[in-house]
Amino acid sequence: MNYKNALQHSVFDIISKSAQELQVDAYVIGGFVRDFILDRGSHKDIDIVAVGSGIQLAKKVAEKLPNKPKVQVFKTYGTAMLRTDDIEIEFVGARKESYNENSRNPIVENGTLEDDQNRRDFTINALALSLNTSNYGDLLDPFNGIQDLEDNIIRTPLNPDITYSDDPLRMMRAIRFATQLRFKIEDESLHAITRNNERIKIITKERIVVELNKILESNKPSIGFLLLEKTGLLKYILPELTALKGIDEIEGQRHKDNFYHTLEVVDNISQNTDNLWLRWAALLHDIGKAPTKRFDKKVGWTFHAHEFEGSKMVYRLFKRLKMPLNDKMKFVQKMVFMSSRPIVLANDIVTDSAVRRLIFDAGEYVDDLMTLCEADITTKNPKKFKKYHNNFKIVREKIVEVEERDHIRNFQPPISGEEIMKAFNLKPSREIGIIKDSIKEAILEGDIPNDYDAAYQLMLKEGERLGLKTAR
Ligand code: ATP
Ligand code: MG
Repeated sequence: MNYKNALQHSVFDIISKSAQELQVDAYVIGGFVRDFILDRGSHKDIDIVAVGSGIQLAKKVAEKLPNKPKVQVFKTYGTAMLRTDDIEIEFVGARKESYNENSRNPIVENGTLEDDQNRRDFTINALALSLNTSNYGDLLDPFNGIQDLEDNIIRTPLNPDITYSDDPLRMMRAIRFATQLRFKIEDESLHAITRNNERIKIITKERIVVELNKILESNKPSIGFLLLEKTGLLKYILPELTALKGIDEIEGQRHKDNFYHTLEVVDNISQNTDNLWLRWAALLHDIGKAPTKRFDKKVGWTFHAHEFEGSKMVYRLFKRLKMPLNDKMKFVQKMVFMSSRPIVLANDIVTDSAVRRLIFDAGEYVDDLMTLCEADITTKNPKKFKKYHNNFKIVREKIVEVEERDHIRNFQPPISGEEIMKAFNLKPSREIGIIKDSIKEAILEGDIPNDYDAAYQLMLKEGERLGLKTAR
């Protein structure tokens, strides 16, 4: 098979000429080839194997490129990287890897193209296209990866037990590719992942999170989380989620399985948002349910204050996985913490003041919160499904209407602390806080409009109630 048409970008010609000058063979390998054949749009990182020095080849290519890019050399790995246009090209010398049981790092020697293909994770990632003049564009496919691409199968080139044990990150990658490409992990491979699941412990949290994020960013993340669960990996990575599994029954009362419910919510939200952190919020919105679950003879199963518990767990989880403890984490916490608020609203008659409070508390994230709550509707009863969605539609309309009128979203108190001090000739004191608070409360309750004059009048009234004298 020849795939010259995959190599239309001018950079391939330059790599080919450079390789020829250096008298080394060079090949495009991995994701670029796979995604071209799958017609998945252009793959922005290109991997080149040189049978010889990858670093030298990279330098030669950089000299010939019109933009004369800098070459970044990673000496310890024998690789080099450069950027041209919007693509990133990684060069590596073909190598042979052998792993030793006691070390995570392989012994690396120079090797042939076949040696290099042997060390690749999956048959579909071992496909190589020749950049050599004698067979430019030819596909080199020793493991029949092309057939696996056609059959939608993830398979390791060599014995899967060895492949996964050598580098346990490959277990995560298998599941990630299965999710992104909607491929099936071949049975032997799936069993091998299950047998080796405990070895995931030696992989750094950062690399695990990269794969988790890719799973979450795909169209149907549940595929990946179900596989993580099935293979026993999930309990090592996100035990908060496996703790949601199962249904208890006491006195004939059952609660829903919150693990499968959660996955439905994640799939639902993925239809409506590409925001990775909102997807994380969906994944974690119920984690507080495991530690707060109780059975009460009168009311049945309860998960009292699970949203609060859940938001605290988000912090610990992010910390454990070495995820950023910044505004993204705070956003996820806020979404988890508030995840039941609109539901309460939608069950009742929606009052303006309840909507104002929702907007006040959710601030700029009120739309994200609504998106989360809509995704949370997983009832199989079509009547209820319709009713809940309808109610949320009403809440959303109300949010727009109230916000247009009252401007609560980025609430700024209409009267500042300084003004209160000036009006009553006060030094900083708790009275100022009390007055500010009653103004805010009155606005949210709808007792006064959100404007200066009304707030000023209320301030005077409150001051009087507190026995303060106005300054003259
Ligand atoms: P994507 O870019 O979508 O993540 P990719 O297949 O290009 O997919 P990269 O991480 O860019 O993945 O890696 C490029 C290639 O390097 C892969 O196609 C594969 O051949 C090889 N590779 C990457 N990670 C591993 C690994 N852990 N074990 C073996 N081979 C790997
Ligand atoms: Mg890639």
